[in-house]
Amino acid sequence: MKIAKYLALALVLLLVVALAVVHWIVPGLLEGSVNLVKSHDPYTIRPEVQAFHDELFIADLHSDSLLWKRDLLKKSSIGHMDLPRLKKGNVALQVFSATTKSPSGQNYDQNTADSDNITLLAVVQLWPMRTWGSILERARYQLSKLKDFAQASNGDLIVIKSKEDMRTFVSRRSAGEKVVAGVYLIEGAHPLQGDLDNLNLLFDEGLRISGLTHFFDNRLGGSLHGVSGEGLTAFGREVIKRANELGIIIDVAHASPQMVSDVLDISDTPVILSHGGVRGMCDQGRNLDDALMKRIAAERGIVGIGYWDGAVCDFTPLGVVKSIRYAIDLLGVDHVALGSDYDGTTEVLFDTAELAILTQTMLDEGFSESEIRQVMGLNVMQFLLRNLPD
Ligand SMILES: [Zn+2]
Repeated sequence: MKIAKYLALALVLLLVVALAVVHWIVPGLLEGSVNLVKSHDPYTIRPEVQAFHDELFIADLHSDSLLWKRDLLKKSSIGHMDLPRLKKGNVALQVFSATTKSPSGQNYDQNTADSDNITLLAVVQLWPMRTWGSILERARYQLSKLKDFAQASNGDLIVIKSKEDMRTFVSRRSAGEKVVAGVYLIEGAHPLQGDLDNLNLLFDEGLRISGLTHFFDNRLGGSLHGVSGEGLTAFGREVIKRANELGIIIDVAHASPQMVSDVLDISDTPVILSHGGVRGMCDQGRNLDDALMKRIAAERGIVGIGYWDGAVCDFTPLGVVKSIRYAIDLLGVDHVALGSDYDGTTEVLFDTAELAILTQTMLDEGFSESEIRQVMGLNVMQFLLRNLPD
């Protein structure tokens, strides 16, 4: 009798320990193994460069930080960014992306929609059970995380939803306030699950930028890394039309070339490519060819250059800056921005707190101060002032 009691107690204890491990330890280990900052000597930033960097308006078009089980209001040694590190890097505006489904064995060449790693991630990170079997709920949950962080931040982090929000935010930053803004994006529109009403639902909850496909083809059409290579489907065209009506900005990152071309043909508003590189500088399957990139720019779009090897081939600060230079020469300085893909299972050589190294490298490479201002954030600021809903 006594032994049975002890056994039961031991079993309960074991279960509590196992749950604690899953809750507190596994998510950190998991993220720590995929979102890496490659070890490097500390960057020495010259005081005059730091002073220039600290007066810039800095914006980044893509981070996947909401995917991980981390309090983004606290400084962490894991991953690439959180609010204290954004502040240290003088970042004013961060686009927060939600990944909702990702195939196992994910690669830049060819993937199908048959498998999914995010289900396991949702379970291991103890996301609400409604997210385990629904990619729409995963999009809604990550958006609610962003709003919860903003609410708990005592006004340090705000969520931008309109031109008016953006105007107020820009004037607060100009007045010297160190408030940080977030804009919410979904990485692929598969969470709509074929139903346009879900776009309205997500819009009402705060979605302002929508990707079309991620690593696999979906109901909107072909992925850059899918199988079909097809352009926009009839449903895809309806999504573009509804997004235009609502004021949701289209993100063509990861879309097939045919789909990008179709979107440029029919979208009333310019598009972004939130994170990527330029094929002429880095000839890899993650990037679009130069002619298509020029069309995005010609239609008044902007392109975020990433910091990982798949986008820029050489992911040193100098390598990233060379891709930025190439993009400026190809597209014009008005069309180039930052698109880090921080915390997107990427390895980088500088996290967001270390961003001044990018400013310094651009200066060393002969960029003008005005070029740096535009690339580091003015282009994104102006794009959002023009294209967010009223
Ligand atoms: Zn991506």
